[in-house]
Amino acid sequence: LNTTLIRQLNVARVFHALRQHPGSSQRELAEYTQLDKATISAVVRQLVQEGLIARRDKPTAGKVGRPEVALTLSSEAGILVGARLEPKSIRLIASYIDGRVIGAHQVAGSVALAESVSLLRAGFDALLAVLALPESQVKGLGVGIPALIDLEGRLAFAPNLGWRNADVVSRLGEAFRVPVNVDNDTKAAALAEKLFGACQEVRDFVFISGHSGVGAGLYLEDKLYRGHGGFAGELGHMTVIPEGRLCSCGNRGCLEAYVSEAAILRQIAELGLELPDVWTVREAAADVRVAQVLQQAATALAIAVKNVVNLCNPERVVFGGNLAVIAPLLLPTVARYLAEHALEAICQQCQLVISPLGIESVPMGGVALALEHFLALPTWLASEQLRS
Ligand SMILES: [Zn+2]
Repeated sequence: LNTTLIRQLNVARVFHALRQHPGSSQRELAEYTQLDKATISAVVRQLVQEGLIARRDKPTAGKVGRPEVALTLSSEAGILVGARLEPKSIRLIASYIDGRVIGAHQVAGSVALAESVSLLRAGFDALLAVLALPESQVKGLGVGIPALIDLEGRLAFAPNLGWRNADVVSRLGEAFRVPVNVDNDTKAAALAEKLFGACQEVRDFVFISGHSGVGAGLYLEDKLYRGHGGFAGELGHMTVIPEGRLCSCGNRGCLEAYVSEAAILRQIAELGLELPDVWTVREAAADVRVAQVLQQAATALAIAVKNVVNLCNPERVVFGGNLAVIAPLLLPTVARYLAEHALEAICQQCQLVISPLGIESVPMGGVALALEHFLALPTWLASEQLRS
């Protein structure tokens, strides 16, 4: 690690500590980050100069002596935009640099790459128009895509979009003047869970999300596990029912073939009931056909979660994205299956939770990517070095 990088990591640690503990003094920041006072002073001075944090006097509550100075992130420092790019929809969220959401907008998606990029651009413009913000206020855009994305940010394969070896980053770079960061949707969402969601204090968790597909973000030993080529986490293609239903990847019996929104709707339709989305599935849960499909989805999910829990020993398994909508209907079965089949010592250490970010997991993942980029850190390194 060179000194420039160490300085950036220190800036990120102080920034995130202040984001989690607004109103802290420099002394408190030193405690949260385990950095020495001189380093904290230097980093705070830099962040104040850059307009990212503001100082104000802390109420002294009758104490004598010099009043402490409280520090907060400045909401005037800029806006970040996160996006979830899907075949049928593109959803965008705008937030302050501390992750507080200020607006959202959704437009139709496309499976044609060029059209998808221009729809994203149109959605971005519409969001800024609603918020009456100029593009110059936006410090970064992060985009989560349901795709295999390698360590250099190149898209290798997106089965639900039908894209192979697509140069998404340079296409987006041409369409936007702001810095653009791209990652696999579930990995981005796992980072959002660490920065803004249920796992801010958790070092080992597995984030499972469903949208057009199903994937996992493996956040292990306080960093996102990417694997040799960057493609780790394809839990959706774990075999849960040998010779079972056909999956988009060409195999049979994958988790995704039972648990993705499309798979659930297709199975319900095969039983003679047409439903448009997971919300109507949840409302129709008492229908025997819906109950039957959800029971099978719950069993498939339970098998996958049991295997991943035994393999990774996480403190939490978090369910996000569209899966968060129906998770309350699935989790009792998953919990019962874990209690019966996972190794007891591992099962006792693991909590199943529904993401507080819910269906916004992936767009907030985009915000998380933009934030890490804004702090001038490669995401994998930032997440490795972050301390809560
Ligand atoms: Zn598959």
